[in-house]
Amino acid sequence: VIRYGHGADEFDTDLAWRSRALWRRLEQQAGQELLIETGVLWLAREDDGWEAACERTLLEREIPVQRLDLQAVSSIYPSFDAQGLRFGLLEPAADVIHARRGVGTLVELAVARGARLLRGFARPAGNAVDVDGTRLSADRVIWACGPWLDRVFPALVELRVTRREYFNFAVGPGWGRDVPVFYDFQGPIYGLPDVEGHGWKVAPDSATKDFDPDTTDRRLSSVKEQEARDYLSARFPALADAPLVGGRVCQYELTADNEFVVAPHPEHPDVWLLGGGSGHGFKHGPALAEYVVGLLEGRHTALPRHALGPRQPSAGLRSAALDFEPDEVARAPQA
Ligand SMILES: Cc1cc2nc3c(=O)[nH]c(=O)nc-3n(C[C@H](O)[C@H](O)[C@H](O)COP(=O)(O)OP(=O)(O)OC[C@H]3O[C@@H](n4cnc5c(N)ncnc54)[C@H](O)[C@@H]3O)c2cc1C
Repeated sequence: VIRYGHGADEFDTDLAWRSRALWRRLEQQAGQELLIETGVLWLAREDDGWEAACERTLLEREIPVQRLDLQAVSSIYPSFDAQGLRFGLLEPAADVIHARRGVGTLVELAVARGARLLRGFARPAGNAVDVDGTRLSADRVIWACGPWLDRVFPALVELRVTRREYFNFAVGPGWGRDVPVFYDFQGPIYGLPDVEGHGWKVAPDSATKDFDPDTTDRRLSSVKEQEARDYLSARFPALADAPLVGGRVCQYELTADNEFVVAPHPEHPDVWLLGGGSGHGFKHGPALAEYVVGLLEGRHTALPRHALGPRQPSAGLRSAALDFEPDEVARAPQA
């Protein structure tokens, strides 16, 4: 899901909005649908919390946003219970992204323009790269290794890689592309409409245990399934008994403060580390890449918020769940 609301944060709000324009351009180049404009509906539990901050920032940036009273919110979905909510905040221009197709498109377009795709296990070798014994050199090297970034650079990067699960429930007409994604940030839980016949996706977003993306079991748990179903029953009562038709286990990789890592290697200034974004690194990808190109070309300087080094634990920007324990900040590496 690409949404523009990031609380009071202007940088990430602008980055996401710019990214949408670039995704649209990629879509035209690829000649196939990459974004589905379902909109996103934030379900606010406080009068002046995260959603109100999103609203102020979006209004200021002239990004489409609309505050809805609970009656209006309740009329959006075929079945809805507004208990515990104060209001809804609709971002009508927010999209669901075809993730797999988006990555495939990126690779195809890059290769068509002269990029060479190599598959192998890469290790840093000074300011070069060793790929399965072959040394590759370049003017600039960027390591964007997702949840493996802190394994490649354990002395420089600290990530918390945690497990998340989502579940797909079979739903009838009225729950497809015409209704928005919902985010109950304080839930914390979110869900996607049935955009492609895979069912209504419900993703409990509470922090869970550490996850090894190479070895951890990816079977779904009955505990999380129950959490998803309990929420469905309470919030979308007509879906209380919707049959489960699928689901997946996925990982988040987050820094302590939820900010990206975009920083040069302290010993090799032409080597850059990029990560800590979870799915947001992907959604913001086109604009984030544009920003990184500007850094590499010296058009602007790296922001301190993305630097290596200790971070203060905080949730919010990418996930409502605090994946880092506050005392862990003491272990965070110094740049
Ligand atoms: C099933 C599933 C569903 C998900 N659903 C969502 C969702 O709905 N919303 C959301 O926000 N996020 C979701 N995620 C998480 C999201 O996919 C990731 O957070 C995101 O892909 C991270 O992007 P990235 O480019 O930083 O890293 P990745 O997509 O993980 O890419 C990193 C790449 O680097 C490669 N790599 C790493 N180390 C090395 C090395 N040493 N040598 C060579 N290659 C290396 C890896 O093989 C990988 O291809 C989901 C994940 C899964 C698995």
